[in-house]
Amino acid sequence: MTLMPRPSILAVEPYVGGESKIPGVNRIVKLSSNEGAFGPPPAAVEAIRAMAAEAHRYPDGGATALREAIGARFGLDPARIVVGNGSDELLALLILAYGGEGTELVMSAHGFMMYDITGRWAGCRIIKVPEKNLTTDVDGMLAAVGPRTRLVFLANPNNPTGSILPQAEVERLRAGLRDDILLVLDSAYAEYVTRPDYDAGAKLVDASGTTVMTRTFSKIFGMGGMRLGWCYAPRAVIDVLGRVRGPFNVNAAAMAAGIAAVAEKGWVECSVEHNTLWRAKVSDALTALGIRVWPSEGNFVLVDFGTAAKAKAADDALKARGLIVRAMGGYGLPQCLRITIGTAEECGMVVDALTGFMRG
Ligand SMILES: *Cc1c(COP(=O)(O)O)cnc(C)c1O
Repeated sequence: MTLMPRPSILAVEPYVGGESKIPGVNRIVKLSSNEGAFGPPPAAVEAIRAMAAEAHRYPDGGATALREAIGARFGLDPARIVVGNGSDELLALLILAYGGEGTELVMSAHGFMMYDITGRWAGCRIIKVPEKNLTTDVDGMLAAVGPRTRLVFLANPNNPTGSILPQAEVERLRAGLRDDILLVLDSAYAEYVTRPDYDAGAKLVDASGTTVMTRTFSKIFGMGGMRLGWCYAPRAVIDVLGRVRGPFNVNAAAMAAGIAAVAEKGWVECSVEHNTLWRAKVSDALTALGIRVWPSEGNFVLVDFGTAAKAKAADDALKARGLIVRAMGGYGLPQCLRITIGTAEECGMVVDALTGFMRG
């Protein structure tokens, strides 16, 4: 007899995070995980510090104060918010609750990796729909739906492509799905979007009753290490998540930090202004070097070198200067690198390094 997990577990390719070390290099600039250019808001840092002496107390399992703070900040009913240990936890709970053996999960070909990883864990068959111009193809997604489909995932904007679907297309996707299919709108980069017609998902959650929006504190709020995410969902889904989540799934320091972060004045505005400016500067500079840069609505750009070999050489050139970006082989885009928009100085370093690479 051999100890074995469920067979579907062995089909999971473990998630490989952004690298953070280069042997022999002192100053590392990590631009591989879209962590927010400015780190955590100062008030969040203070809140984490202040929680330390209370570390013996269990957190509020209902996360009431945090849900109220999020609700107030985003104009949403706190009773329809569930918080999680990163939005990854909420994505997993949704997949395990609504998917599983015998079901199908539909996502776009270059959609966020965790849907694939967690879907396999749950035992779902994963259907990846080819994209058009590295953008989700709504007709293709709808055509891929079958009788066993229970979950459809859309990151909007998408990571790693940076592409976005207009609101009308998101609505057309929902309208084409049966009512026994949960549409998960992963809006991890919502705050960075500057398009006027953009809605992060709350509208459709309210209109459909079968849609969930997930959000995170890991990107614009710079708190990836705290592990804090949330979702806005119909009552029936809130009820399900209340049954399956751990009673203390978010720790006390993360909750205190989240409350402080949403209250930090000007944080989102400053971050968006910086990101919009430097995303354009980096994109323009790399384009001028003859590198293809895909349009992005996130705090990162997908940079296309045409071949896997050239992308690898560019990655090596960046690494030699201490710059860590994300290789894209795991996403089926080995000719690309994904580069997070960091501080002005960090963006300048990326442009300098790639200028040297392209001219060298
Ligand atoms: C970063 C990211 C997440 C995960 O966020 P956490 O809250 O840190 O778990 C989810 N979806 C997308 C598309 C992301 O890029």
